[in-house]
Amino acid sequence: MNRGGKQAKHSVSFEITTASPEETARIGSNLASVLEAGAVILLIGDLGVGKTVFAQGVARGLGVDSPVTSPTYTLVSEYDGRSLPFYHLDLYRLNGDDPFEELGAEEYLSADGVTAIEWPEKIQRVWHGDCITVTLEHLVGDSRRIEIQSAGSSSIDALESYLKTVAEPGANG
Ligand code: ADP
Ligand code: MG
Repeated sequence: MNRGGKQAKHSVSFEITTASPEETARIGSNLASVLEAGAVILLIGDLGVGKTVFAQGVARGLGVDSPVTSPTYTLVSEYDGRSLPFYHLDLYRLNGDDPFEELGAEEYLSADGVTAIEWPEKIQRVWHGDCITVTLEHLVGDSRRIEIQSAGSSSIDALESYLKTVAEPGANG
């Protein structure tokens, strides 16, 4: 147990259920508006659950104008956002033995922008430190359960700001 001078709070998490892709994207977009450079979002869930839809929302929230498609074949796509650059990684096709470093992807984790990673569990890397984990689950029809969890002080601050933003009436456009 860490009894040092740091805050005792280790994570913040909450759950939302969405009924459409637009709603899922809007959560990503609202979340993006409270993120700072270096933020890392891990997107977890089955194929077709909405990880890319969520990432598209994040891109929109960062002011990316160009269309964001799944970077399955390129592994990493880079976008210029009006507020911050957006790095979108999809590790689905990655062989577990490929060193993550070979992708040149490691640098995005401490980059000048926001990084969203689909299938982070595909590589044998321990995701530690500051990150936001978004876990999506299929419910019936177009409903999805989305759990958002943060670990590390920047991510915790971001999620607390997000929760304040969405709690204010009229704060969502
Ligand atoms: P993934 O990246 O997880 O494989 P995608 O984001 O590419 O999945 O695709 C999600 C699919 O599910 C899209 O076709 C989207 O329109 C559909 N969908 C239906 N309901 C939702 C919802 N509530 N949230 C996100 N996507 C949804
Ligand atoms: Mg995808």
